[in-house]
Order: sequence, then C-alpha cells, then structure tokens
Amino acid sequence: MSLVIKNLKASIEGIPLLKGLSLTVPKGEVHALMGPNGAGKSSLAKILARHSDYTVEDGHVLLHGLPLLEMEPEAASKAGLFLAFQYPQTIQGVTIANFIRAALRSRLPKEAHFDAKSFYARLFKGMDQLQMDHSFSARCVNDGLSGGEKKRCEILQMLLLEPSFCILDETDSGLDIDALKVVAQGVNALRSPDRGFLIITHYQRLLDYIVPDKVHIMQEGRIVQSGDKALARELEISGYRS
Ligand code: ADP
Ligand code: MG
Repeated sequence: MSLVIKNLKASIEGIPLLKGLSLTVPKGEVHALMGPNGAGKSSLAKILARHSDYTVEDGHVLLHGLPLLEMEPEAASKAGLFLAFQYPQTIQGVTIANFIRAALRSRLPKEAHFDAKSFYARLFKGMDQLQMDHSFSARCVNDGLSGGEKKRCEILQMLLLEPSFCILDETDSGLDIDALKVVAQGVNALRSPDRGFLIITHYQRLLDYIVPDKVHIMQEGRIVQSGDKALARELEISGYRS
C-alpha cells in the first residue's frame, strides 16, 4: 500500500475538520478525492504534508508502511510525499530553478556532487513537457505568476522531484482546457506501478484526462462514498447529496 489512513481525526484551533476519515491508496493507483467546498479536502492534504497548524487527535497514517504522522514535513518529503498546493505560496527572492535545485540537493548526502548541467537539462525538459518558457526558471517562485502558471510550476516541481506519493490539490482550478491537458499529460507521464496519487478535484473534467482507479467523496470531514470513475460522472449530473 502507498497510503493508509485510518480513522483520522484532526482540528484547527479547536474546530474539528477531519472526523474519522479512512482511505487507502494501493501502490501504483490513482485515486480521486471529490467533495463540496469546505469538506476538508485541503485540510487533509496539508495534514498529510505535516502542516503545523493542524492538531491530530486520533487515527494513524502509513506512507509506504512508515508512520507519517510522526514525521516532520522534511522527513515526509524525503519519504517520497509531494503536495501540489491549491494556493501555492510566493517565495520572493528565490528563483524556481534554485528552489527545485535546493529541494533536490537536500535529498543527497552533503558531500555528494551535484551536476548543474544535467539538472538544467532535466529542468528544461520538464518545462518543455509542460509547455513552459525556459525563462520561467529565473522567475521567483510564484511571484507575479498567473493562477495557471502557478499550477504548472507545482507540477514542474513534481516532475523533477519524482516523489513516490503525489497529492494534487485542485491543480485543475484556474487552468483552461489546453493547460489542463498539458498538466494531465505531466501527471500521466509519472504514473507508475511504484507511485501513488491522490487527486483532489471539485470537477470531474480533470478525470477525463487523468483516469482514476477509484473515486472517493468527502463530506464534512469524512469519506461518505467510494466507487469507480463512474461515480464522478454521476456527481456531475446529480451534484453532492447533503
Ligand atoms: P475544502 O478544501 O474541501 O474546500 P478546507 O479543508 O479548505 O475544505 O476547509 C474545511 C473547513 O475548515 C472549512 O470550513 C474551512 O473554513 C475550515 N478551515 C480551513 N482552514 C482553516 C483555518 N486556518 N482556520 C479556521 N478554519 C479553517
Ligand atoms: Mg480545498
């Protein structure tokens, strides 16, 4: 199993957000997490990425068999977890190239040689794949980027870091249909028997391009329904039941 979440209960400033959530993503599978605004989808993503604002009250989470909730964010990242944020933060003064380079270097032993030439070759290949102009590599992280550019930038990081478990939080929002296809191709290129994905989305249209193995519906802090990809289409027609 890539990810096992059992009875997860968590809150922020005393407000309960996750109310006994259980979810399993087997190795190599792509699961979609859907649900209305305010269901707690982004909170779940950030809790898994070990965001310090949230308090975990109960439950446990295994990432590739390791206890994720006992890890600091850096350790979770090194264990292979990646989160593409719904609202990516701006980091002024740090270029996209330097940001990704620092993330990659931090995974190497201190004395290891970092080959800048092959790094830039990989970076530009990733940018070509996502149809990003190479000049973006010299822009500061998310600084002045449009919504769609920010989302491509998140996926670029994912392509370069090659994480073993990827969470994408509404990566489709703010993308027009062409950009959506490009991003979906980037994700599909990373699909492999060793890599799991949790794709959080509000709309089923992304799932036309990234076809999930399973779809889960989240409401009020827990999973209320699970099914195959047909479930996403049903929702498109009937909406979320309250
Ligand atoms: P979703 O991503 O499904 O739209 P969120 O996880 O963003 O839902 O939010 C779930 C609930 O938690 C919402 O009611 C939201 O207002 C609340 N919430 C999220 N972050 C905070 C916070 N930092 N402080 C207080 N409430 C929060
Ligand atoms: Mg959200």
